[in-house]
Amino acid sequence: MNSSRTWKSGEICRISGTYRCENCHLAGREVTRSFEAGTIFPMCDSCPEKDVTWRLEKAVGPVRATA
Ligand SMILES: [Zn+2]
Repeated sequence: MNSSRTWKSGEICRISGTYRCENCHLAGREVTRSFEAGTIFPMCDSCPEKDVTWRLEKAVGPVRATA
């Protein structure tokens, strides 16, 4: 999936907010983490995979254009 609301481990977070691990979601687990803009998306503690997909659930505050 290549949605504008998903990012993979190792990519840079551009929107502070709450993210859901899609890999966990597909496996029936609900894992959410909060990341701030500028953070590099980590691996998921609950996933055996090295690359996971994080999906933005809820952005925190206004989205600032800091490109
Ligand atoms: Zn996970």
